[in-house]
Amino acid sequence: LVPATGAGRYAPSPTGDLHLGNLRTALLAWLFARSSDRAFLMRMEDLDDRVDPASAQRQLTDLAALGIDWDGPVLYQSHRQETYQAELGKLLDAGLTFECFCTRREIHAAASAPHAPPGSYPGTCRDLTEQQRAERRATGRPPAVRLRTSATHCTVSDALHGRYTGVVDDFVIQRGDGTFAYNFVCVVDDLATEVDQVVRGDDLLSSAPRQAYLASLLGHEPPRYAHVPLVLGPSGKRLAKRDGAVTMREIDAGPARLVALLARSLGLSNKEEITPQDLLGGFDPALLPHEPWTYLPGPLS
Ligand code: GLU
Repeated sequence: LVPATGAGRYAPSPTGDLHLGNLRTALLAWLFARSSDRAFLMRMEDLDDRVDPASAQRQLTDLAALGIDWDGPVLYQSHRQETYQAELGKLLDAGLTFECFCTRREIHAAASAPHAPPGSYPGTCRDLTEQQRAERRATGRPPAVRLRTSATHCTVSDALHGRYTGVVDDFVIQRGDGTFAYNFVCVVDDLATEVDQVVRGDDLLSSAPRQAYLASLLGHEPPRYAHVPLVLGPSGKRLAKRDGAVTMREIDAGPARLVALLARSLGLSNKEEITPQDLLGGFDPALLPHEPWTYLPGPLS
């Protein structure tokens, strides 16, 4: 699992079939990794309560049918509770966490106060006294665990966005219900599998500074990022299932025509049929579009 040359990965959430936008990101993640001689890893982000276990296998089947291959076994986050618990233990021991008793509403109210930093946890529970903590525990609401950060911003390096600086706040590591939070498990897993290249949708760009900060805190170099543009549907919003025929099964065009559609949308090829492998030779991240692509579902011409 640990190649000498580093690794890229694709990390879908198995909440349904992959749509064209997901498939386009997967194709790009594969091209970035394979064209730079990296391994390519597959990870199922299946901690969420919206997870549909059957869809994980369908997603993998669709990716394989397109010609996207990966190295080693698929990593399922739901199998890694002990690892996450152990990593959380290290942060606890180092005094780098605190318990947070805030509700969403309290955070929203405090974060909208005139001098609160925008987009950040307002710090309500960061420095509670023992007495205040005891009072809040007595309410019976299980606390979330947050990271105690010592930075407000972090700068990451991104193939499409250049140097990107974003907010780092005291973000959630473990929710009150015990679920480990996305930012935490993402970093733990990327480090454990030696991922040094993260390619994903640009809706997650603002998460990168928090994740890079945590990676550095754990003593690692943050990965190189490529946050790629999303696919929009007819409404102008991010493509979604309700937009019609958007999954591989629904479009029913055969893998080579579907890959060609994605490749045309990325300016990678004009062919009517193509495989991911065919796209490797000329792949140049510097030539990728920076704007979203609008897909209007309908018969493939
Ligand atoms: N699971 C996330 C998604 O499906 C991707 C997370 C990541 O690549 O870091 O959008």
